[in-house]
Amino acid sequence: MTGVPRLVAAGLTLGLVFVGVRGTSSEAAGPSSVSSVIDRIVRAYPSTTKADGSSLLVNGKAVVVDDGVNGGTFDERMNRADVVDQLSQAYPAGCPLRPPAEGADPGRLRSAPFFLAMYGASSSEVRKKLVSVPWFGSTQQVTTVNGVDSKLRAVANELAKNTDWKKYLTPSGGSFNWRTIAGTKLLSTHSFGIAVDINVAYSDYWRWKNTKQVVPYKNRIPCEIAEVFERHGFIWGAKWWHFDTMHFEYRPELLP
Ligand SMILES: [Zn+2]
Repeated sequence: MTGVPRLVAAGLTLGLVFVGVRGTSSEAAGPSSVSSVIDRIVRAYPSTTKADGSSLLVNGKAVVVDDGVNGGTFDERMNRADVVDQLSQAYPAGCPLRPPAEGADPGRLRSAPFFLAMYGASSSEVRKKLVSVPWFGSTQQVTTVNGVDSKLRAVANELAKNTDWKKYLTPSGGSFNWRTIAGTKLLSTHSFGIAVDINVAYSDYWRWKNTKQVVPYKNRIPCEIAEVFERHGFIWGAKWWHFDTMHFEYRPELLP
């Protein structure tokens, strides 16, 4: 790209981001009290979680809901997120897609103990529960925990009705992979068999061009594809300030 179009693109992006910033002030934050957080989790994960007074059991294991530590940078919060943090940013379900405001990363704060207790604490534990789901000529490896496999089958069946979408969906960018998030020591949700990436060729990622700063926001995936995923409990990485537009992960606690 030459200098002038790049400036124009940057200006457009800033304009869009500004709209996003203004939009955020009217968005509700997630639930904040411990009891409302537990209630929301149990409704989203009825087969694997249970309220036990003011505690949360995940597959029978007690998981800290609120560690009492607040504040810090987003990176610090990511490193020690509890379940309250996990629900602290409201996810904007539906379309049209609005570029995320600075710092709006609903879903990127994740309680590590919650996911380890839910899906498996090691690669081999997670693998025991994985199955292959057909995906437009290939397959995705996802967990059977919480019925994620059947939810992804339902997503594929709905997406198949619009043949214009196929190019965005296949080849898959990957599903199960026990690994950390690039640039962090945190496990990616790909480690738990709950995340799928669609076609990398149509995707954009905040880190691709610069390892420190968020590059100007960009998305080439139709929002209507994400609406299908969202109906079955998956959130979309294009709705993050740290955008990852090929990425979908099963996070029903963030959806209506
Ligand atoms: Zn991904």
